Amino acid sequence: MSADETVVAEAPPGFPSLDALRTGVLAGDRIMLARAITLVESRHPAHRQAAEALLASLLPHVGKAHRIGISGVPGVGKSTFIEALGLKLLEADHRVMVLAIDPSSELSGGAILGDKTRMTRLAAAEGAFVRPTASAGRLGGVAAATRDVMLLGEAAGFDRIIVETVGTGQSETEVADLVDSFMLLLLPSAGDELQGIKKGVMEHADIFVVNKADRHPQAAKTAARDIKAALRILRAGMRDSWVPPVLTVSALTGEGIAEVIAALDRHRAWLIESGEGESRRRAQRRRWLREAITEALAELWDRDPQLADERARLEEEVVAGRILPRRAARELVARRLAGSPAAVRDK
Ligand code: GDP
Repeated sequence: MSADETVVAEAPPGFPSLDALRTGVLAGDRIMLARAITLVESRHPAHRQAAEALLASLLPHVGKAHRIGISGVPGVGKSTFIEALGLKLLEADHRVMVLAIDPSSELSGGAILGDKTRMTRLAAAEGAFVRPTASAGRLGGVAAATRDVMLLGEAAGFDRIIVETVGTGQSETEVADLVDSFMLLLLPSAGDELQGIKKGVMEHADIFVVNKADRHPQAAKTAARDIKAALRILRAGMRDSWVPPVLTVSALTGEGIAEVIAALDRHRAWLIESGEGESRRRAQRRRWLREAITEALAELWDRDPQLADERARLEEEVVAGRILPRRAARELVARRLAGSPAAVRDK
């Protein structure tokens, strides 16, 4: 281990040492990976520093996986599809991690994705790691927690990371922001419902997959044709050299899954050749930084002892309706910066 990789922070009580976690994760040890995930998902402030130190020490080992996002409405067949896709990827000697972003989990503890037993065959397979829902309530949201878990998975040697989300319009954008390739799963009735799919979601998808083609073969073909037609209009004038393929599959029978894998591989090759992959990741890191800054400022507001009196006063004023929240926020930031060593030095 080189000096700059040495973990300095202490693991919280009840956890293995950060060094043991790091070595375990890098060795692909599932128990250590699960412990590390618990640590980075924790909303306990005392765990944050250890989690950050651990992630920082793993940074040289992340980023090599193909990150794949999958979204679709409940019932479209996401779990069935991901299980079929995951098992096929395992056959090709990939190591597959599946993570789920459940937008309902922040309110209900994961009602949409968490309740049923999902992907049991994939979850039991060696070489796969299925994580039903990322922990809710962490500052920065479920997406931020998912991102950290994804990095741990990469350090543990998973080379295909699948991030699943329920289609709600909002969460597709969140998941598209985490991954390299974003896939939208649709029902054979999609053609009729194209109006209902938000333009932003259509624009984000790199691959379209119409599922349940076994049950409705004709409708699936029609849907694929309609989606292609809609894409032509949507993308007219766009210079992107990637034209999103529209595939029909049956997650249940496995028909078409090999073609999905081929499309994913083509997309990945295109990302690399065109440079688009690197620019996507750079843009993502820039947005993550912004989120992290918001998170850090919120933490300051919640916990900084230097600001305790000022916070109480401002909060009272805002709650009473005498000051607008934005004004209070500005005052607080200005006061904190004025008190910081950097600001004093710069005077
Ligand atoms: P999710 O809510 O999007 O995760 O959907 P599920 O994977 O739970 O699937 C919903 C229902 O659709 C289940 O009863 C599946 O067995 C069924 N289903 C999924 N994929 C297919 C498919 O390709 N063909 C058929 N006929 N049924 C499917």
